[in-house]
Amino acid sequence: MAKGQINVQTENIFPIIKQFLYSDQEIFLRELVSNATDATQKLKTLSNIGEVKGDIGETQMEVKIDEKAKTLTFSDRGIGMTEEEVEKYINQIAFSGAEEFVEKYKDKASVIGHFGLGFYSSFMVADKVEIFSKSYKKGSTAVKWECDGSPNFTLVEDDTRKDRGTDIVLHISDDSKEYLGEYKIKELLDKYCKFMAVPIKFGTKEVNDPEHEPKTTADKDGKETTEDHKKITIDNVINNPTPAWTKAPADLTEEEYKNFYRELYPMNFEESLFHIHLNVDYPFNLTGILYFPKLKKNLEVQKDKIQLYSNQVFVTDSVEGIVPDFLTLLHGVIDSPDIPLNVSRSYLQADSNVKKISNYISKKVADKLEELFKKDRKAFESKWDDIKIFIEYGILSDEKFAKKAEKFMLYKNVDGKYFTADEYKTKIEVNQTDKNSKVVYLYTSDKDAQYSYIDAAKSKGYDVLLMDSPLTAHLVGKLEQADTNTTFTRVDGDTIDKLIEKDAEITSKLTEGDQNVLKPVIEEVVDKNTFTVNFVSLSESDAPMTVTQAEFMRRMKDMSAMGGGGMMGMGNMPDMYNLSVNSNHPLISKILGEKDEAKQKDMAKQAADLALLSQNLLKGEELSKFIKRSVSLI
Ligand code: ADP
Repeated sequence: MAKGQINVQTENIFPIIKQFLYSDQEIFLRELVSNATDATQKLKTLSNIGEVKGDIGETQMEVKIDEKAKTLTFSDRGIGMTEEEVEKYINQIAFSGAEEFVEKYKDKASVIGHFGLGFYSSFMVADKVEIFSKSYKKGSTAVKWECDGSPNFTLVEDDTRKDRGTDIVLHISDDSKEYLGEYKIKELLDKYCKFMAVPIKFGTKEVNDPEHEPKTTADKDGKETTEDHKKITIDNVINNPTPAWTKAPADLTEEEYKNFYRELYPMNFEESLFHIHLNVDYPFNLTGILYFPKLKKNLEVQKDKIQLYSNQVFVTDSVEGIVPDFLTLLHGVIDSPDIPLNVSRSYLQADSNVKKISNYISKKVADKLEELFKKDRKAFESKWDDIKIFIEYGILSDEKFAKKAEKFMLYKNVDGKYFTADEYKTKIEVNQTDKNSKVVYLYTSDKDAQYSYIDAAKSKGYDVLLMDSPLTAHLVGKLEQADTNTTFTRVDGDTIDKLIEKDAEITSKLTEGDQNVLKPVIEEVVDKNTFTVNFVSLSESDAPMTVTQAEFMRRMKDMSAMGGGGMMGMGNMPDMYNLSVNSNHPLISKILGEKDEAKQKDMAKQAADLALLSQNLLKGEELSKFIKRSVSLI
């Protein structure tokens, strides 16, 4: 029997391990299961290359709770350890690994991945840990190692473990009793071990016996009865050791991709739109499947997140900083042993491997979108509304993606027709170029609310785009930058003649003197802080007064509402509008000519309210007054 002291540099690290990142205690389970998985896979490899002769038998591992004994046991059929190996791997290597880890992270709150603490993480939840192990090597004797959370251990020959493999027995401490709960362990196995490469048994379950077909018999009246299914008890294997992303795309059917999506997110009943299978082995290793979910308009934080794995071991489901921001809207799995896991996020972002991976994924996603567009444009168009936010976000946040997206980003007009950027420019160029040679893209954010403006634009032969995403304000800014010969104007951004300013201007019927007389009359009937009164010369058939909001004003407001674009803290910007008075409209001349002041004021108010009404700005008391006034005028 060997007794000894683990080589301690850091003054008693056990108390530190115990407290280590309290909220992340549960990862001990992942560490122990992945050790068991490694040991099992090593054995399989040895068997494959002929190092281990004969049948290796059962390789499934097992997790067991013994509530009475207050133990949680991890039992595997892997390579096991000899006495020398326990001494080396547990007392020396694993311990110094844990020591180094604690040293490094003891005052860092944010550790991603939390890899590296390994075997000794078991002391976060256990007072005492035992290892019973028997090596696969011929003639080796079984051993028992024991440590009670002090630097003292014992290592003895002990034949508790009869066959090849290792049992790790945790004597759960009183303040960690939750880890003796079946439900808790099941939840953790599901979180961390769902796709580990070796089958994991946790208890048993009853199922219908597949060998036994229940008989149906008829009595003398012809009434049929079917006997009950025969039940059998089988091992409850909680994981899927060969998840879809580990297989070759050619070996998977559409149905299997769909099933895997459901397996990943059992609580999500929506189907995805399409998927991308990632598979690269140079210059880094990465596999995975990404799914495009149907995105909600309000960009709600997606509850199903991309899960990051390292050789099928769950690492994290917060991949921010590892993939480009816009890709975090996607769902699915990324598995890469090449992402450094036990480092901080800021380090990760600067890591060249992570950058390469991030670029690779972004490129793959762009390629896939282009392929889908080229292969079946109709189908792509039908999905556009569900994916456009994703694509817009990509264009805004990733230059390379933006460049690629030029080929598949679509414009949709108010008639529901789709155009690529090139197609659309060609379509509107002739009719919608202003006197400064800029091509003016007209858009609406709300077909119903801006109906009269759309109508006016259409009657001039203009085309109007439907751009109703929360990112529109940012996007149009970006598109204008990308092509400086274009400009975007919301259809209610100005009066119809000014939306696209051409050379020929209609002359005004009102003189400047007339305007100076009329202006204060109109200003009196509207809120001066909100509305700026100005005169425009439109045709007689256009509206007498129009409310518009300058494009730049509205974009600033939209962006501040989104909290983006450096507009933080401007969330309460007041709304400001133009009230444009059509100097050529007969009603305006009539108001000017009215001698009765009260009557003149009423007419001005009525005309202004009508303009407000068509922008949906007339509300509450003002609206009801307007209705009463209208009735009396009729
Ligand atoms: P890591 O797994 O990162 O190497 P650990 O502290 O988890 O570090 O484990 C240290 C070593 O102990 C492992 O590398 C392995 O050699 C050995 N070991 C741990 N668990 C087992 C096991 N279940 N079967 C065989 N060897 C094991």
